Amino acid sequence: MKFGGSSLDNGHGLQNCLDIIEKAASEPVAVVVSARGDSTDVLENLLLRASRGDAFAELLNDFFHYQMVPSEKLAFDKEKRVLGELLFAVSLTREYSQALKDRVMAYGELISAKTITQLLLQRGLKTLFVDSRELLVTGVNGSRKVLHEESEKRVLQFFKQLSPDTVPIITGFIASDMKGNTTTLGRNGSNYTATLLASYLNAREVQNWTNIDGIYTADPRMVEDARKIELLTYREANELANFGANILHAKTILPLIEKQIPIRILNSFHPDRPGTTINSEGAGKGIKAVSVIRDVSLISIEGRGLMGKVGIDARIFSALSRVNISVRMISQASSERGIGFIVNEADASVARDILEREFENELRHSDISAVRVNNDLAIIAIIGRHNYALEKAIAGLRKNRIWMYLINNSMSGEHISLVVSNNDLAKAVNVVHNQVFGAVKTLNIVAFGKGTVGGTFIDQVVGTLEEIIRERHLRLSVVGVVDSKRFLFRPKGVGTGWRDELKASSLPSDLGLIKETFAGSGLENLVLADNTASREIVNHYLVGGDQVKACFHKIKVM
Ligand code: ASP
Ligand code: MG
Repeated sequence: MKFGGSSLDNGHGLQNCLDIIEKAASEPVAVVVSARGDSTDVLENLLLRASRGDAFAELLNDFFHYQMVPSEKLAFDKEKRVLGELLFAVSLTREYSQALKDRVMAYGELISAKTITQLLLQRGLKTLFVDSRELLVTGVNGSRKVLHEESEKRVLQFFKQLSPDTVPIITGFIASDMKGNTTTLGRNGSNYTATLLASYLNAREVQNWTNIDGIYTADPRMVEDARKIELLTYREANELANFGANILHAKTILPLIEKQIPIRILNSFHPDRPGTTINSEGAGKGIKAVSVIRDVSLISIEGRGLMGKVGIDARIFSALSRVNISVRMISQASSERGIGFIVNEADASVARDILEREFENELRHSDISAVRVNNDLAIIAIIGRHNYALEKAIAGLRKNRIWMYLINNSMSGEHISLVVSNNDLAKAVNVVHNQVFGAVKTLNIVAFGKGTVGGTFIDQVVGTLEEIIRERHLRLSVVGVVDSKRFLFRPKGVGTGWRDELKASSLPSDLGLIKETFAGSGLENLVLADNTASREIVNHYLVGGDQVKACFHKIKVM
């Protein structure tokens, strides 16, 4: 069982975790803990302050106050003294090495594991504090690569002498090199500690306790309709990890794949919920998730001089690799007249410089017209297998007038990438998610006017919502109501109480603000229903005033 920092936060969090461990202890279990709350960030911050010569004493006090809140019995006097001395040394020299940083950062996990051991002992559970620096060994010269043979040997030895009714509480994240110096496994490294131990010990499963219900079909902060995923294969989870679903790093999953050990993502605040299980079988075919990478750039090289020439691509990619720039997506027309590829935005200007230098001659002779860079782009990735996912996604984006800069379908068909503008991202993710998952389409309505016609309209839409979903797979959602004085913004849709809510709204009926609010909301399929006689609103229609007149004319004729 591995518990993350947010699960171990003071208050409910920590108590829940103790309950969970206590319950699980009837079977042989090993516990790996992260630093509690945001302790690691605070330690990093302390180092930064010390290295700038800024005062750190108060923050250090706060840090220890936080650590000691769970029980007055805990005293970390020695830790406090040593940490204070280390920081003092940094503040004198105004610099620190990676080795010293690792030593400082280790305190988060050391204190956390000691605290939890102590609290469980107080509850009468047989526990033992275990310093993972005795177990996991990383390479020399600052390399964080784990030396598996040596680590496995130490882990097995330790567990062999451990009494089976004792629950070891092991520090995550930290290790040591062969000389015994403290090292770390990188941020979020406790997950890796847990999967490594599981693999060495042939565990039945890994439970990864966090503060979320599991992995979602999309980032729930971006997509209202995101659903929790029950089952994923290691490979799908890995794809998701590559795309910034920050739960599991690829290297974390690797130790599990080899031994086919399943891992479950569970919510320590709701321990009865089933979470997401990742194993070798998964749930079979089907789209699993839509995820995003922000802030990428498209670089394109075009020119008639490139047609059919051999070696251009090789020159492009070796030039980029010399400056260590990684290319995320590549697209080339079969005519070979141009090539486009995606790099991280932070690398874009260096990439352009390097390529302009590489193709100096071609540029001079106009064999290449230019090395162009489009910034502010994002990748949307559709992960999982589905025959029509690409078509559906493209159709949805086109309908919503979202431009795609690049489209890529992986050879295995399990990974589709679409490049859109950062500005369109919120909407685009919703559109794509809805297209590939949602049987129910949503039409988001902003209703102008609440008079007899306008008010009845809203009441009817709200009143027939369920019926329309059932019969037409369409959710009509009134996400906004505007009258002459104010407007109401409800991205999840208004209910029957919309009149009172509108009255209470503090948002002024300002067309500029209204436009900004709804356009920036990421809501897809947004339509304006104008039940007013206002001329001003007509001027803001997407179609021009004349076209509107023509529409009215048609209606009359009908
Ligand atoms: N405490 C470390 C971090 O915050 C390791 C972890 O939480 O897994 O990065
Ligand atoms: Mg953490």
